[in-house]
Amino acid sequence: MKIVRRIDELQLTGDVGLVPTMGALHDGHRSLFRTARAESDTVVASLFVNPAQFDDLSDLAAYPRDDERDAGIAAAEGVDVLFAPSADEIYPAGFRTWIDVDGTGAEGKARPGHFRGVATVCVKLFNIVRPRRAYFGQKDAQQAAVLRRVVRDLNIDVEIRVLPTVRDHDGLALSSRNVRLSPEERNRALGLPRALHAAIGADDPVAAARASLNGLQPDYVEVVDLGDVKVLAAAVRVGSTRLIDNVILEGALR
Ligand code: AMP
Repeated sequence: MKIVRRIDELQLTGDVGLVPTMGALHDGHRSLFRTARAESDTVVASLFVNPAQFDDLSDLAAYPRDDERDAGIAAAEGVDVLFAPSADEIYPAGFRTWIDVDGTGAEGKARPGHFRGVATVCVKLFNIVRPRRAYFGQKDAQQAAVLRRVVRDLNIDVEIRVLPTVRDHDGLALSSRNVRLSPEERNRALGLPRALHAAIGADDPVAAARASLNGLQPDYVEVVDLGDVKVLAAAVRVGSTRLIDNVILEGALR
């Protein structure tokens, strides 16, 4: 696996699959790498903790980083190129152009500027890497919905592949932020996937999930439409950690 830090060092041709990540890799990322590996001639993973998508600076400062471990995981999963640029490489002095997406749902309202940062960095990555397909996790459902909207609205020729959420043995969706949970918080956090699963099939899934959150205070519970699937999504805060999760209500991921 080649580690590349500068845009002008990337020389890619043919059928490329791109997996954008912020590092602190876990089995959710591994699943994206594996599918990209199976479907693409060349797999590029990006490792970039994108400052522009953090609405909360303490979250950015506390974001877990372990580049060496991440490189080992990416190499083991067959990634060909790990693109790990500096913030200056992506946002050089004088950077002034942003992609603003309307209608980013409750997650967008809860995190002002977040999806502007996500959309901008992903479009930059699409232009830099020129992938045929880009791989994202269902766990970040609103993110997947936003990126599908961006490539459609801006006629960007990239297929947005969305792969199922990978969960821990107890049902908690894997997240780089889970390492911040104390054992007691982790236990309480399990109320989120349980409430979402309990609401599948209810007449009013939003109300059903709210009613079974067991004292967890949701930022929101809402239905997000990804095109191929409709998911029931929610965000909760457990201690100082914000967690999101969702379950499929209708359809199947393509
Ligand atoms: P992140 O590094 O958190 O920005 O995530 C990089 C990609 O991995 C995003 O497309 C996420 O949706 C995806 N991802 C994160 N957690 C999971 C998970 N538990 N299962 C599947 N994909 C995930």
